[in-house]
Amino acid sequence: MANPKRKLSRASKGHRRAHLALTRAQLVRCTHCGAMIKPHTICKACGHYRGRQILVAENN
Ligand SMILES: [Zn+2]
Repeated sequence: MANPKRKLSRASKGHRRAHLALTRAQLVRCTHCGAMIKPHTICKACGHYRGRQILVAENN
């Protein structure tokens, strides 16, 4: 069985994981209603995407 020759030190493990941090999602303003949305997604507040109405609000 192929196995690592030596135990990986805590320092080495930490150095490798130094680049694994998560970043916050970027948010942009909806051009129609101004709500904060993820880029390239339909606005959940008003249903617009790239200046067009995509989703129509349900009347419950
Ligand atoms: Zn919107």
